[in-house]
Amino acid sequence: MKDAFRLGAILLTCCAGSLLPAAELTGANAEVVVAPNAPQATRFAAAEMTNYLSRVLGHALPLVPTPTEGRYAIILGTNAWSRAAGLRPETLPRDSYCVKIGPCRTYIAGCDNPTQDPARQIAQGSIGKFERATLFGVYGFLDRHAGVRFYFPGELGTIVPAAPSILLPEGSYSVTPRFATRDCYLHGAGPYPGVDPADAKAQRRAKAVYSLLLREETDRIPCCHGQNRFKIAERFSESHPEYFQLRKNGTRCIGTKFEHNWMGRQLCHTSKVWDIFREDTLARIRKGERYVDIMPQDGMSACMCDNCQRVFNTDDFSLASGYATELIWSNTVAVAKAVTDAGLDGGVSQMAYGTYRNIPSVDIPENVKVVLAVGGPWSESHPDIRDKQIAFVRSWAEKLGRPVSWIWTYPMKNYGRLQARDVPQVAPRAFATFYTLAEPYIDGSFVESNVGESLVQNYLNFYVFSKLAWDGKIDVDQVLAEHHRLMFGAGAPHMARFFDAIERKWIDEIAVPSLIGETEIGPMLYGPNEIDLWLKIYSRAFLDELNRSLQAAAAAVPSGSLEARRIAWIREELYERAARHQKEFMSLFSPDVERARRAADKDARVVVESGADWKGWGLPKNALRDGTAVGLVADGRVYVGCALRGATALKPNTKYRLSYFLKTDKLERRDPKGGGNGACMEVEQYGKKYSALRMPAATYWSGTRDWIHQSVEFTTNDDVVQLPGYKANLWLRVFNSTGTAWFDGVRLEEMSR
Ligand SMILES: [Zn+2]
Repeated sequence: MKDAFRLGAILLTCCAGSLLPAAELTGANAEVVVAPNAPQATRFAAAEMTNYLSRVLGHALPLVPTPTEGRYAIILGTNAWSRAAGLRPETLPRDSYCVKIGPCRTYIAGCDNPTQDPARQIAQGSIGKFERATLFGVYGFLDRHAGVRFYFPGELGTIVPAAPSILLPEGSYSVTPRFATRDCYLHGAGPYPGVDPADAKAQRRAKAVYSLLLREETDRIPCCHGQNRFKIAERFSESHPEYFQLRKNGTRCIGTKFEHNWMGRQLCHTSKVWDIFREDTLARIRKGERYVDIMPQDGMSACMCDNCQRVFNTDDFSLASGYATELIWSNTVAVAKAVTDAGLDGGVSQMAYGTYRNIPSVDIPENVKVVLAVGGPWSESHPDIRDKQIAFVRSWAEKLGRPVSWIWTYPMKNYGRLQARDVPQVAPRAFATFYTLAEPYIDGSFVESNVGESLVQNYLNFYVFSKLAWDGKIDVDQVLAEHHRLMFGAGAPHMARFFDAIERKWIDEIAVPSLIGETEIGPMLYGPNEIDLWLKIYSRAFLDELNRSLQAAAAAVPSGSLEARRIAWIREELYERAARHQKEFMSLFSPDVERARRAADKDARVVVESGADWKGWGLPKNALRDGTAVGLVADGRVYVGCALRGATALKPNTKYRLSYFLKTDKLERRDPKGGGNGACMEVEQYGKKYSALRMPAATYWSGTRDWIHQSVEFTTNDDVVQLPGYKANLWLRVFNSTGTAWFDGVRLEEMSR
């Protein structure tokens, strides 16, 4: 029986021109084996293998504690069988796994933590950093031999191709991820689709599963302003004020909180505070830490004490000067050498960042783990800026004579000034190019990928990053072509057009790297304003083009098929959100829509109407007039404006709608990047609380634009009172600009509640 099985199992298959023996796996002959005493991490891997292979083969495979005679066994984890077969994953770098495919058995073994349980951690909503390499082996095996693709968790994002049998080429191999650090920051990368965004625990559970499928890191050399962890301010602000930054005004920065408009915990880095860092680092390593993060507090600014000033030896305290480079890196190296001198196995981590980002002259020993902060994939449309980032990473790697430990990148939109809510930040090609160029010089990356609205905006970016992080090199054209084909079937060409179009928009017109500024707290992105975004970039014409691709894709696949449901999923997550936002914005903004609304609403309770004469508004003497419109001429002052005067109009605790029309003529803002410059309207409320509501709220209007409509609804405070002589506390405002802002049709309505 056994021989008959073996004869059946050993086939010859032609592979790359050579004849290799191959084992044939079928639903009828296969089983998954996990030893009874295996760690939970191995058992979890075995459950995943059983589940997916059963779906591929169309047959529920048994999960058994010991190989059954006559069946083809897939043996998981490190155990007596794997050792007898010669697998030694413990000799390989962390997260590596070994695979051996024989005529009767396949072994997949990695190092698994003996105490941690992935299933329990998923239930609790957080996957910890522990070894689970057999699971990586299972996902890798399913990808390589069974054609399974994990684009996104769940039925829609996972490809499980049905096959009556799988041919496994006999032989052995091992896999080590190219990057040790692999973190896409799922926590901040947008809500998980189909799960209530307000249900934080359910969100975390879903993201824990996703993190496992992305095969993210199981360990991390920490590096994020680690000096704060030493609690210097709490311990020494009274006894050793000289440890703290001396500010220009002669005071020491002894506080822990934000103060003087900048961060607390700023230190004097020529003081003996570094003795504390050294002694505490030795103590922490003795207690079991491996690398201690000694990166200074964020937003570091210069200490004005004589010692520091002598060391800095400059008047140029700009970021670009990197004036603190030599000081911070020589201190860092001194701590690392103390660790070595004490005979300890460990070291420190330091980031080249802000005012200490340049390359220092001091030699940096191996036990200093260097981390860098660079803009990342959004630099793709400006190769000069991208190449400058890569050159920075390369020059550090050359300085060290080894790759830097990891880089911190910022492909995000919600942090910084780049908002573009509901516009998909899908740019897998940019991810591939950036990380392919950086790969020779880094051992990993933290991808700070904040998005507010949907995790789906990031799934292709993360898939490409994860694949590159494991394989080192990828052919992104092939990866994307395969994704489109496997996910969307006959709809693939249309979906390829859809994905390419949204990537080009994002990279070329929205996440524009010429607007990535280097700041004290890392690279900061500035996006287009909302009106350009919805009028010119994600215009109706562009949305129509996307819609046509999605319609053509849907028409190419059978209705109700998995492919059709995937196209509908992408439509909802990556198209409909943007289309709805654009429509809403444009109707809010269209004077015609508002005029029609006013004409139709005969029962409106109008409290204020600017009318033709603007009586009571106290218009400036140089105000221009054109029909019912007035033009405020701005001359660069902090603001010009006027307010409606007269008897009290605002009632307490009452809902109002303010709307108006605005046109701008050569209105130039003093700081083109900043908010708070340009034209707006304002409602002030006085009472116990003061509030000022502006429309628009952040980026006021500027440039030369034809008439637009603006409206805002608000409810007055309980105790709203009037400033004597002002009616309704309504203001027309122009801040920090030159040029003309035209206002017309200002109307305040009381709304029924
Ligand atoms: Zn100092």
